[in-house]
Order: sequence, then C-alpha cells, then structure tokens
Amino acid sequence: MNYNVPLSVKLNDGHFMPTLGLGTSAPIKVAKSKVEEAIQIAVDVRYRHIDSAYMYLNEEEIGRAIRKKIANGTVRREDIFYTSKVWSTFSRPELVQTCLERSLKKLQLSYVDLYLIHCPMSFKVSRLQTAWLRPDRALYKLPFSPVFQPGEEIFPKDTHGKIIFDTVDLCSTWEAMEKCKDAGLAKSIGVSNFNRRQLEKILNKPGLKYKPVCNQVECHLYHNQSKLLEFCKSKDIVLSAYAALGSDPAKEWRNKNSPVILEDPVLNVVAEKHGQTPAQVALRYQLQRGVVVLAKSFREKRIKENFQAFDFHLTPEDMKTLDGLNRNMRYFEDAEFANHPEYPFLDEY
Ligand code: NDP
Repeated sequence: MNYNVPLSVKLNDGHFMPTLGLGTSAPIKVAKSKVEEAIQIAVDVRYRHIDSAYMYLNEEEIGRAIRKKIANGTVRREDIFYTSKVWSTFSRPELVQTCLERSLKKLQLSYVDLYLIHCPMSFKVSRLQTAWLRPDRALYKLPFSPVFQPGEEIFPKDTHGKIIFDTVDLCSTWEAMEKCKDAGLAKSIGVSNFNRRQLEKILNKPGLKYKPVCNQVECHLYHNQSKLLEFCKSKDIVLSAYAALGSDPAKEWRNKNSPVILEDPVLNVVAEKHGQTPAQVALRYQLQRGVVVLAKSFREKRIKENFQAFDFHLTPEDMKTLDGLNRNMRYFEDAEFANHPEYPFLDEY
C-alpha cells in the first residue's frame, strides 16, 4: 500500500482535481463575510480546491475572495479549482445554463472548474420565476415588482407549505451540462447525491458525450460508501466526500441528535496513537482510500489543522479499524423528499 497520497487526481476528462477541498456551506445565521475571510486564509494555507453551489448563496463573497488572491499575486485563476452546482429548480435543460451564468455573474469569473448536478431531485420553479425566465422577460414589463427576486426561491412551496416536486429526465439535464462544458463555462462536469442506478442512467445514455467526472456524496466514517466507491472507481469516476467530519449540527438539513463522529472513541484512539486530531484522521482516511475529501471550517486554526491531513499516514491496520466504524448512517437523509421519484437514498447504494 502506498501511503503517500497525491495532492490532486486526474479526472476522466484530463483535468486535475485537488484531493482536499474547502467546503463553504454554512448555517444561514453565519455572516457571509466569514466565507470571504476563510477562502483567503485557505488559499494562503495552500488549499486550491473550493466547493460551493448556487444554493449556498455565498458565491459573491467567494468570487471576491478568489479575485483578491489573484490580484495580490498569491495565485493565478488556473491554480484554483472551483466547484459550483446547478440547483434543483434549474434542472430543466433550458434552465441549466441560466443557473451557471447566474453563479458566474455573482463570482465575476468566466468559468467554473467543475459544475455538478447538485441533486437528482428536481423542484418546480414558481410561476413568477418561469415568467422571468422567458426570453422576453415578460414579468419585468408588468407595472408591479415581483414579491421576490427570481431564483431566490430555493425550495418552492405550495400553499400548504409542501415543496413542489418536478419530474425532469436526468439525461436531459445531463445533456444541458454537456453544453455548458462545450460553451467553456465549466471545465469539467459531474453529479452529486446520485446513487448507482442514477449514475448508470447517465453512463448508459445513448449518445453520451461526456461521462461525469465525479459524484459528490455524503461519505464519512459512519457511512463510508464502500460499494459506491468501488463502483465509481470501476467507471473512472472520482467519489468526493461531503460531511467527512460529520457536518455541522447547526445546519438546517442535518439530522439532529446523530452521534458525533469526531467524538468517536475508536477514532480518538487512532488519532492519539498518531499524535493527530480526530478531524485529521477522518480526512486522512478518505485520502488514503482514493476519495477526494471536503472539509468546511471558517476558523483559521482548523483550516490549517485540516490541511495537515497530508502530513502523516495511517497503517493498513488503522484503515481496517476505521472501516469497522461504518454503520451506513446518514446525516443528510432529506426524508421530506422521500416521495420524490428520484429520491436517491432508498437504494442500497
Ligand atoms: P464537514 O463534515 O466538513 O463539517 C463541518 C463542521 O465541522 C463545521 O461545524 C466545522 O466547524 C467543523 N470542523 C471543521 N474542522 C474541524 C476540526 N478540525 N475540528 C473540529 N471541528 C471541525 O461538513 P459540511 O456539511 O460542511 O460538508 C463539507 C462541504 O461539502 C460543505 O461545506 C459543502 O461545500 C459540501 N456539501 C455538499 C453537499 C451536497 O449535497 N453536494 C451537502 C453538504 C455539504 P467550524 O466551521 O466552526 O470550524
């Protein structure tokens, strides 16, 4: 076993993706200025991979931080690997590029390095959004202002407060993703929260032009995704891990009352043995099994600490011990979407 892990991996389209990325999704109450500071710290620490999404509503701040680091000479644009994601209200093929263009406008960047389908489940755009998205922008010609800005309704709800599902063929969304790559707006394209069946649907699509380069999924010591990882590796698709540290209990969508990974006694014994922190071991575990891993922190000390996951190695016995912690437990079950026809978490993997 080779203990040295690479700083980046080659994707199936020839581009390179740094193996450790900074997550940027934070609870709504966290000031957006925090992400702008965190990115600048992270770039100084040598993070080159930043993960965000249209629905995190922080791309303006992220773009500003990246542009500051470019302007002061720390990095060039091509040194940064930036990921964004098309949100589920934009899954219809005619809306995918609109979502990406909105992200780019907020970022004030000309392309993203990776664009992902955030989630296989689609939601309906509201009537007002649909009107705004018509080519003639008919809504703006009306003599009144809309009650919300188009696109801000992340979870469109009906009058009973229930999220309005849409049914969009995943393959048609994928074809629109391919067009974003062809237009040069995204260097690479991939998916997130897809199960094996959904991945196969794309892979077996007649006339497939580009394979997804990665599938970003919940992956940590309590849900190590070993079967999905094996499947992705067999198709030359990178599995990238979110919630590798167990996520933030303050997050709106995270299951509350779930066990806290970083307090796990077995993990803590392994960490102590190596003189590392539990977070460093949780990240190193993923790096050693060939998983690209994301870690979110807006605190300087932890941003540095997490990057030191490159500086030690776990033995095969440690890896086996850590494998043994798996219990197929999700922090993000999204149970309120369980009736959606593309709800991904009912299949075994
Ligand atoms: P993480 O597993 O990265 O955990 C983040 C939490 O861990 C925060 O509360 C953070 O606190 C804390 N933390 C970070 N470092 C340490 C440390 N060294 N010691 C102790 N605690 C630490 O969860 P996320 O849910 O944020 O996932 C990572 C990223 O993945 C997201 O930010 C996002 O970019 C992406 N993601 C993608 C999803 C998708 O559907 N595709 C879904 C969820 C996430 P603090 O900030 O205070 O340091």
